[in-house]
Amino acid sequence: MSEGLLNNDIFYKFSFVFPILSTISFLVQAVPLTLLVYVNPTWLHNKYIKGRPCDEEIEKQLLWGIYYSLRNHMFLFASIALAFPLLENYLCYVIVWDNDAPWVTVSSMLQFVAVVYLEDYLYYKIHRAFHVYKNLFNFVHALHHSIKRPVALCGHYMTASEFFLIGGTVVLTPLLIGTFTSAFGYPVHYKVLFMWIIFRQWEAAEEHAGFEANFLLAKHFIPGYDGPSFHIFHHLKVIGNYGAVTSIHDKRHETVSKGYEKYLKGLRQQ
Ligand SMILES: [Zn+2]
Ligand SMILES: [Zn+2]
Repeated sequence: MSEGLLNNDIFYKFSFVFPILSTISFLVQAVPLTLLVYVNPTWLHNKYIKGRPCDEEIEKQLLWGIYYSLRNHMFLFASIALAFPLLENYLCYVIVWDNDAPWVTVSSMLQFVAVVYLEDYLYYKIHRAFHVYKNLFNFVHALHHSIKRPVALCGHYMTASEFFLIGGTVVLTPLLIGTFTSAFGYPVHYKVLFMWIIFRQWEAAEEHAGFEANFLLAKHFIPGYDGPSFHIFHHLKVIGNYGAVTSIHDKRHETVSKGYEKYLKGLRQQ
């Protein structure tokens, strides 16, 4: 790797800080949420979604979840770093890399919301394809479904190829939004990219948490997201509930998991 590349501010932010933020933000959320289920305090007993995983299952996800998260991040972001010379001009066009802009502006918030819902749609399409095409399921997605009762670290318990497709879409989405908004003079700021990856990893950990509780905050912020029950039902039933976070596209395409809406109704009446 040339010295020029190492001193390149865009390379530093995109291929060094960005993956570190992604890894840390997932583990900082997922490890304590997993340990909480493992410790199993009394107040958590009535909050589990269709029961608590056994200790053996939690230990397996704790150890292998950390391993897969680190390995998959390394694989994805090493690939992106290698492709950087090809991406650099494009990244300059769709992302603003200077440090001057504030973290929160009206345009950055609108871009952030657009990224959240576009990725939710793209994830739905890719995830549904994993289940429709048998070979894709067997070779790419089956490892993730070997976990029937997830805890938060299951969020990255997957093959490197699945993480490459899913994580690649997570990285690509703000670039797609930037491609569109740049045409109107509003490229995405790199701080939106950083906020997005922290937020997306927070979602990935929470949706696998295995229990419902008010301190799991994502559902309070994302219209259309019901909470961890949505994705836990996907693991339990295997068919349906393909959305990344929201149930919007599953409702539109009538792919909501069997029994999920009845369960949710009961949960809301409690
Ligand atoms: Zn699946
Ligand atoms: Zn999952």
